[in-house]
Amino acid sequence: MNPKQKLLKELPSVDEIIKSPKGIKWCKIFPRRHVLKAIREIIEIRRKIILDDKKDLSKEESYTAIEKRIYKLSSFSLRPVINATGIVIHTNLGRSVLTHNALDNVARVSENYSNLEYDLKEGKRGKRYAHVVEIIKEVTGAEDAIIVNNNAAAVLLCLNTLARDKEVIVSRSELVEIGGSFRLPDVMISGMSILKEVGTTNKTRLDDYINAVNQNTALLLKVHQSNFKIVGFTDSVSIEELKTISDKHNIPLLFDLGSGCLIDLKPYGILNEPTVQEIVKAGVDVITFSGDKLLGGPQAGIIIGKKKYIEMIQKNPLTRAVRIDKLTLAALESILHEYLDEEKAIENIPTLRMLLQKPEIIKARAEKIASNFKYLLKKMKIEVMEDFSQAGGGSLPGIDFPTYAVSIKPKEISVNQFEEQLRSGTPPVICRIKDNSIIIDAKTINEQEIEPLADCIKNALEQLS
Ligand SMILES: *Cc1c(COP(=O)(O)O)cnc(C)c1O
Repeated sequence: MNPKQKLLKELPSVDEIIKSPKGIKWCKIFPRRHVLKAIREIIEIRRKIILDDKKDLSKEESYTAIEKRIYKLSSFSLRPVINATGIVIHTNLGRSVLTHNALDNVARVSENYSNLEYDLKEGKRGKRYAHVVEIIKEVTGAEDAIIVNNNAAAVLLCLNTLARDKEVIVSRSELVEIGGSFRLPDVMISGMSILKEVGTTNKTRLDDYINAVNQNTALLLKVHQSNFKIVGFTDSVSIEELKTISDKHNIPLLFDLGSGCLIDLKPYGILNEPTVQEIVKAGVDVITFSGDKLLGGPQAGIIIGKKKYIEMIQKNPLTRAVRIDKLTLAALESILHEYLDEEKAIENIPTLRMLLQKPEIIKARAEKIASNFKYLLKKMKIEVMEDFSQAGGGSLPGIDFPTYAVSIKPKEISVNQFEEQLRSGTPPVICRIKDNSIIIDAKTINEQEIEPLADCIKNALEQLS
């Protein structure tokens, strides 16, 4: 037997490792199939090392490698990341961050049975929406409400209920696409409504709507432009003007508000974002908006408006297919309670707090983050710089919020590799690259993340050196 054959023969068997004290311990904690898979993989790696005449792993090293592999196999796919992009409502990173109170309520309601669809007073079947309808009415001033899975479902449901096989008049400037999967003309088809486009991309006038009204018109639709802005030679029809047509011809007016802002942002310098309350007051019949954009809650679609229409929507069989689940309802009720006091909402709801924080505060945090990287100064250029970031998630289009970021420019390693390493760490750090630098925007980093972020950067650099 040559030395190579001898080494191969001496490799432990899967059985041997699984029956070792470590193997027994792993099987108690992790799924047996992951333990077996990891052991097989590491033995196979050692076999290749021996065949390639390289230095084999010691027993200890191979156990460490197996354990590492088991951890990797057993880790969850959906996990927290550090959002260093500065984009507060980042759709790819889960949009709004929830409050502790909301999460406590989710746990309380879902660890036990609940009165989800049970009327405790009457002792009989109740409605799941009932838990939030009163508070939504109080906060928005609407007559009635119903909540569904998300705003896309809300719009679909409204179209299908109010304008099935009928015409819906909408301005060409509002035929928006919100992420690849929500394009208004396609939603119209899914809702079985007929799209009646009026006006042009930059100009739509009251007459365009008036001329489009006919026997088969069932709905006037206004859509928040959400993720873009038309500037220059433009004209659009106000809610008040649309209301006159709606009243004259008795055609309901639906407004897809998209983000659904419940707080007047004018004191913060954001002048053109209407609040839900203002739209209700203007007499719009039905309004839809998201739960997890500017509202800062869980993914949900909120439909509010005149009782007559909300009742029609409730009766649509499609409502059942897009109904809200109890975990979401528990989180949403908690978030809505914050809105009973506007100041508290801004203080307690992470989305609002992050968006509206003062630049000085962000700057101080950026400086604190940067102070952790003094040891890198020889190898990297590190600066705190003024920057701008957008709200994201199709909210507050065209508004650049001032922010501060830490820019890290490596001198010896590739910035792309650095970014990739940060992305594959635990937790992953998601950031931007600009001018050959890593940009860590302090706006979306909270106090508790500063230390883990410093560790992530250190680990990433160790991996690269
Ligand atoms: C975001 C948005 C939607 C989709 O809302 P989801 O909650 O993501 O389903 C629909 N319409 C408008 C105008 C939006 O901005």
